[in-house]
Amino acid sequence: QKNIGILTSGGDAQGMNPCVRAVVRMAIARNCRPFFIYEGYQGLVDGGSKIKEAKWSDVSGFLALGGTMIGTARCKAFRELEGRRTSVLNLIKNGIDALVVIGGDGSLTGADRLRAEWPEHVLALEREGLISKETADKYRALMIVGMVGSIDNDLASTDMTIGACSALERICESVDAILSTAMSHQRAFVVEVMGRHCGWLALNAAISTGADYLFIPEAPPSKDDWEASMCKTLKASRDAGKRTSLVIVAEGAIDRHLNPIKAEYIKDILCTRLGYDTRVTILGHVQRGGAPAHFDRFLGTMQGAEAIEAILRANSDTPSPVIGMLENKITTQPMKEAIELTGQVALAIEAKDFERAITLRSSAFSK
Ligand code: ADP
Repeated sequence: QKNIGILTSGGDAQGMNPCVRAVVRMAIARNCRPFFIYEGYQGLVDGGSKIKEAKWSDVSGFLALGGTMIGTARCKAFRELEGRRTSVLNLIKNGIDALVVIGGDGSLTGADRLRAEWPEHVLALEREGLISKETADKYRALMIVGMVGSIDNDLASTDMTIGACSALERICESVDAILSTAMSHQRAFVVEVMGRHCGWLALNAAISTGADYLFIPEAPPSKDDWEASMCKTLKASRDAGKRTSLVIVAEGAIDRHLNPIKAEYIKDILCTRLGYDTRVTILGHVQRGGAPAHFDRFLGTMQGAEAIEAILRANSDTPSPVIGMLENKITTQPMKEAIELTGQVALAIEAKDFERAITLRSSAFSK
C-alpha cells in the first residue's frame, strides 16, 4: 500500500479536475491512500493543513469542473534548494512515498529536479537530526509521475496535453461569435490566442475557423516584408467576395529576427494599407476557463488511472515517468527525456533554425 500525494501546478487547465478525480479514485480502488496537496508546490513547501488525505467523495462532481479545485500556484520557494528540502520533509512527515504532479513544462522540470535531488535531501535531513536513520532508510527514493496539464499543447511525449482541446473549443466558439459581427460590418479582426511559445492553439484555431492569415512562433514569415504579402492575401479574399478578414496571431508570434509580432501592429497595417475597419480581440483567460470538453475529461481520466498503475509497477530503478497519449494510446515515458525534447524546440527557435523547430514539433510530438 502506498501513500500518494497529488498536486496541480503552474497554469491551470481544463481537465485537471477529472485527472485529480481519477488519481484519487484509482488510488483508493488499488488499496492506496491518496493525499491532496493544495496550491501546487506551495502546499508542499508549507505543509500543515495544505496536505490532507483525500476521500472518494471529495472528488464528486469533478468531471464537469474547469480550473483546479485543489488550487495551483507559481511557487518561488520551490525553485530554491531550501524550499525543495522543506518539501521533502513535509512529504516524509505525511508518510507520502509517491507523488503525482499535473502541470506544464515548468512544473515537470521542478518535479524532475525534486526526484533527482531526493536522496541528497534525505541524507541532509538525517544529518540535521530532522528525521531518524530508520526514516531516512525507508524514504530513500521518491517516485514521481507527471501528467501534462497545459492548454498550450507544448510538451513532447504526448500528442495532446490535458486542457488543450477545451481551450481550442473555447477559441473556436469565440471566433465564430466574432465572425458573425465582423461579417455584418465587413470588418477585419485580428485575434490573439494563448499558447506561450507554442503555436498549436493558433494553428488549429486558424484551420478550424477559416482564418485568412496566421502567425505562430515556430514558422515566422519567411520574408522581411511580410506585411505586403499579408495584405495581398487578405485583399485577394475580399476581391473574391469574402465580407470579413480574420488574422490569428499566437501570443508568442515572432518575425524571423525573433522580434515579437503583436496584434495591434497587424491592425495598424490593415487599417493604413488596406483601409479596413479593423478590430483587435485578445481572447485572454476565457480560453482557460469553463467546463472541460469531453476529450479532456477522457484524457485526464485515462491518464490519472495509468498514473496509479505506473506507481504500483515501479521499482527503485524505474525513472520517473510522464504519462502521455500517442496515436490514441496512453503511454509512459521517462520524464527527463520529455522535458529535454521540449527544450530543444525552444533552442531551435532561439537559433533561428525554424525548419528544425517545425520538424521537432511535428515529428517528436506527432503533431
Ligand atoms: P507551468 O508548469 O505551467 O509551465 P511554471 O513554469 O510557472 O508553470 O512552473 C510552475 C512551478 O513549477 C513554478 O512556480 C515553480 O514552483 C516550479 N518550477 C518551474 N521550473 C522550475 C525549476 N527549474 N526548478 C524548480 N522548480 C521549478
